[in-house]
Amino acid sequence: MKCSKCGSDKVEVQAVAETSKRGCLAALIYIVLLCIPVIGWIALFKLIRGKKSRTVSYAVCQSCGRRWRI
Ligand SMILES: [Zn+2]
Repeated sequence: MKCSKCGSDKVEVQAVAETSKRGCLAALIYIVLLCIPVIGWIALFKLIRGKKSRTVSYAVCQSCGRRWRI
């Protein structure tokens, strides 16, 4: 793999656990789901579980420091 910025092939691939940046909207969804017995709780549980297992691969150029998502 080559860096699209400097053309160097010294690219390191990293697996990064993605963190949510949805903020208050996500909190609102959680609260709404919490208010729905059983169905809402299952949906909430699946939402949290799905988020935790999510990893994203990033390529990092060792020459210029450019970082991009694969
Ligand atoms: Zn580069």
